[in-house]
Amino acid sequence: MEKLLIIILNAILVSTIMCLADRLNNRIHIFIKRSFCMHCGHVLHWYDLIPILSALLTRARCRYCHHTYGMHYAYLELVGVIVGSYLFSDMIAWITAYLLFFLALEDWHTERIHANILIPYIVYLIIHFWHDSKLLTACAVMIISLFLVYHRKAMGSGDIPVLLILTLTTTTQSFSLALLLASVSALLYLVKHHVHRLPFVPFLYFGWLSIILIEKIAISIAP
Ligand SMILES: [Zn+2]
Repeated sequence: MEKLLIIILNAILVSTIMCLADRLNNRIHIFIKRSFCMHCGHVLHWYDLIPILSALLTRARCRYCHHTYGMHYAYLELVGVIVGSYLFSDMIAWITAYLLFFLALEDWHTERIHANILIPYIVYLIIHFWHDSKLLTACAVMIISLFLVYHRKAMGSGDIPVLLILTLTTTTQSFSLALLLASVSALLYLVKHHVHRLPFVPFLYFGWLSIILIEKIAISIAP
């Protein structure tokens, strides 16, 4: 029963975060109460909004105007529910995963993020890890990031809070691996799509999440 409640909670959260990101990316006020079809404007009923199931039953089409909104919503919701439920026992990893998921969606669509929402969480993590050596890593990352953002203009200022979150929620070794994975995957994307710039937060999120999951799975199967 407890596991079912955790799955339902994560399904609602993933769906809500995707809805919030969609509204912000389409410049729609986030406090409009009822969800509606972005194409025809028809207000959606509760049975149109069941995470994963509604998209599968309607083949990712609006039931009113038949506009296709894409199965990627259902796939993202499914992956989000599995990952969110798996990380639920580690509150810091769980909260971080949802915050970065939202910012990754924002960055992917608009190449701008509301990085300020991370500041209270960064303050909390600094207090929580006050005597931990990872604070030194965070300081070093902050100095290098400031140089890259304001002198070399090689990345956006919104990447700084995200990088700080990554350093504060992993070990120094894991952070290095996550950054390497993010950079390699971003480089492959640049080469494959013949583009010169890309939103980096989704790749940082991918690198961080991959390393966190690999570490947790390795610990759980270790004899
Ligand atoms: Zn519609």
